[in-house]
Order: sequence, then structure tokens, then C-alpha cells
Amino acid sequence: MNLCDVRTIKQIMGMYGLHFKKEFGQNFLTENFVVEDIADNCCDDRNATILEIGPGLGTLTRELAARYKKVICLEIDTGMIPVLQYTLADFDNVTVYNQDVMQADLDELLADAFASGTVAVCANLPYYITTPIMMKLLESGLPFTDITVMIQAEVADRLCAKAGSKDYGAITAVLAYYGTTQKLFKVKAGCFMPAPKVDSTVIRTRLYKEKPYNPKETALLFRTIKAAFEQRRKTLPNALASGFGELDKQTLTDIIVSCGHSADVRGERLSIEDFVALSDAIYDKIHE
Ligand code: SAM
Repeated sequence: MNLCDVRTIKQIMGMYGLHFKKEFGQNFLTENFVVEDIADNCCDDRNATILEIGPGLGTLTRELAARYKKVICLEIDTGMIPVLQYTLADFDNVTVYNQDVMQADLDELLADAFASGTVAVCANLPYYITTPIMMKLLESGLPFTDITVMIQAEVADRLCAKAGSKDYGAITAVLAYYGTTQKLFKVKAGCFMPAPKVDSTVIRTRLYKEKPYNPKETALLFRTIKAAFEQRRKTLPNALASGFGELDKQTLTDIIVSCGHSADVRGERLSIEDFVALSDAIYDKIHE
């Protein structure tokens, strides 16, 4: 069965009376080499369980199931469930749940998988909800080894940006707290059906087993990052003054300078290490 073949896709969709649902970000892959590359490169451990978000017709799922010990899928679209029973019938290592990933209790769903070994995430993500899904996975605190996702190319640029570049933002710094992220490859819009308006990039985040950063208060670190980028054009003292009502601007300026930055620095200059040091200094001031 070649689920990348456009005629096969149309035939299956017709057989089950389905149409492509824009509201669920349904752009299905139509290039075998792309699907194979993603499956090959999402995890180093072939004994791993892979969590796939949004299997669609099962195109990537089949390649994952052929390579890894187990695949657990979450698909929001009820109409896809009978299709997946058909397209995945020759695999006994795949479990499909008809669930919205944002509502799913990942802790419970993956408890056995974590108890028995490595778990990684692999997905061609629906564009409309990329950042919330990434944040849910990261904030879950679950020990995924890797998160490999295909996302809009511009969002990938943002997630992989270096401190100081125009694409660097709060989400870049937050992601850097959890692990190291690299772009694997670009995928042209023409490799999907229907073709989206933009190109995509596959990125892989290798999550830290032991985080190299140890902020005094993680919530305060994220609050500092959020405040620093909330008003991008403002200098850091002004941006933080809006986000930290309990400290005045002069106090915040002094803290920023004591961390080795100039008083007119902007948030996008600070690396995750800088943000950890800054939030620790803010913590000390608040708890003085
Ligand atoms: N994996 C397939 C492929 O690569 O061809 C389909 C990818 S398509 C970009 C995104 C898939 O995610 C669709 O099947 C869509 O129905 C599903 N989806 C969208 N929102 C979802 C959500 N909140 N939870 C779970 N699945 C979702």
C-alpha cells in the first residue's frame, strides 16, 4: 500500500466519504522519501515507543511501525479512525486513540511505554496548533528523549534561531531550556495534498536528560522570558518593568547591569543562560 500515491489518497478518502478538513490542518504527505527520512531520523533507539500526533491516513505511522517497537497515535478526526484500522491492519504494534492531543492525559496514556523504555514524539503537526502542542509536550515534564516535528518553515526558523537574530523570541529561549534543537530538512509545499501555502521544515529537539540549567524558580524564569519579549521594541528594563509590577524600573535596571548587560539591552540578545542568571537575580531581589 503506497499512501503517498495521490490516486490512492483520493480513492481512500472517497471510500470512507471523507474530505480534507482545513480546520484540523489536514495536509497529507505525498513523497515517500520525506516520510522515510522523518521516520529514520526521529529517534536513535529502535526499541522505542513513538507517540505520533495526527496520523491522518497512517502514512508516517506505517513507516514508524516498521522501524520502532511500538507506535501510539492520537488522531482528533473521528472520520480517520476506520481508515487507520484499514491502512494499519498489517501492523500489530500500533495503537490509535481518537483524541485531541490538547485534551489527552499523556501521563496516563504513556505510563506503560515510559515504564518499559524510551519514548519519543514524531509528527507532521497541524500548523494551526504547533506552538500549543510543543508547549504541552515540553511542560508535561514527561521524559521524552526526542521531539521530531514537521512544522511551517518560518516557525522552525523561530524555534532554531540564535540569540540576537530577528527570529529569536520567547519560544526559542523556552525551547532551549528543555533541549537542543536542529533543523533536519526542508519540505516543499508541493509534497503535500492539498498543498499548503508555505514550505515546511522538519526539526528535532533532543531533550536534556539532566537539564544544564538550574534556575531558583522555573516559573519565574518563564515569567522573565515572557516579559522580556512581550514588547519587543522596548529595552529590557522597560519590558521587565511592565511585567514585574513589584519591582521599579531602576531596581530592574540595576539587576540587568549587575548581570553584565548594558541598561539599553533588548531581550532578544539574551541566551537561555543569560535568562537563568537574570531570573535568579530577580528572585534574590524579590526575596531580600
Ligand atoms: N501524519 C499525516 C501525514 O503526515 O500525512 C497527517 C498530518 S496532517 C498535517 C495533521 C493531522 O493531525 C491530521 O490528521 C489532523 O486530523 C490531525 N490533528 C489536527 N489537530 C489535532 C489534535 N488537536 N489532536 C490530534 N490530532 C490532530
